[in-house]
Amino acid sequence: MTARIINGTDIARQITEEVRREVEDLKNLHGITPGLATVLVGEDPASQVYVASKVKMCQNLGIYSERIDLPAGISEAKLLEVVENLNANPKIHGILVQVPLPKHIDEGKILFSIDPDKDVDGFHPVSVGRMVIGEPGFLPCTPHGIQVLLERSGIVTEGAEVVVVGRSNIVGKPIANILLQKARGANSTVTICHSATRDIGGHTRRADILIAAIGKPWFITADMVKDGAVVIDVGTNEIGRTPEGKRILAGDVDFASVKEKAGAITPVPGGVGPMTIVMLMSNTVKAARMAAGLG
Ligand code: NAP
Repeated sequence: MTARIINGTDIARQITEEVRREVEDLKNLHGITPGLATVLVGEDPASQVYVASKVKMCQNLGIYSERIDLPAGISEAKLLEVVENLNANPKIHGILVQVPLPKHIDEGKILFSIDPDKDVDGFHPVSVGRMVIGEPGFLPCTPHGIQVLLERSGIVTEGAEVVVVGRSNIVGKPIANILLQKARGANSTVTICHSATRDIGGHTRRADILIAAIGKPWFITADMVKDGAVVIDVGTNEIGRTPEGKRILAGDVDFASVKEKAGAITPVPGGVGPMTIVMLMSNTVKAARMAAGLG
């Protein structure tokens, strides 16, 4: 059997068009322009690329964007002041502080200073708490993107055995919590594996849906996958550069062998990756609607 390829690029494009229409409706019907502020501290090249792509996506969708670039040596107090100003700015509905921050700044303190109503990254403890108890709020973008990818690919999560490998706060834990909820597009039986798990293959081979968020290229091999399983590969591991300097990426799944055994699989690139930024735009629109009392 050769697996169906889940095309994240196509699904992300569909959602982009839906978000574009929502932005237009907000403007035309309510006179509201959603606004996203991106805060970048220092000159980390990867962070610069991420922030630039978020700004470009905002421009593409008609979302107001404010990019704030700050020197690497900025003090924690000054950065807190920047966030406080954005919290109070009515044109800004979502705030994204690009991580990692320089070592002298307490990342948690900065992220927790963001107004939870503007926490479009979904990393604030208030957002995390809402997610865990199943209350409406902002879901973190990559895990929410995975849930949407599954739904739009017609994959039934209800009652499914889901095994997540990886327990990070940005992918593993939130996707496990999202799929555990007693809700549409969720309601799964979830197992989380990590570096102290004994016999990972024993767990992964039971999975109807296997989600790999490990950060190790080709970690999941065909012998770890059940026949016909859905395999979601979150890994984006740089394994080299092209002569033009473009990053060459590998997933956490050994795509070549696993696609011969799985029922459906996401490629890298072009699977989970494109969903993250679209979900950020969607959260920004949601924040603007909430701020206007539109639900
Ligand atoms: P992370 O914070 O490094 O977490 C990795 C997790 O994998 C940890 O829970 C770790 O276990 C577990 N792990 C590591 N080695 C293991 C092993 N040998 N056996 C079992 N578990 C092991 O990584 P992350 O931020 O979740 O990211 C994971 C991958 O997804 C990376 O490749 C990253 O680039 C990618 N990613 C992609 C997107 C996107 O596509 N938009 C977004 C975010 C991340 P311990 O907790 O025990 O250390």
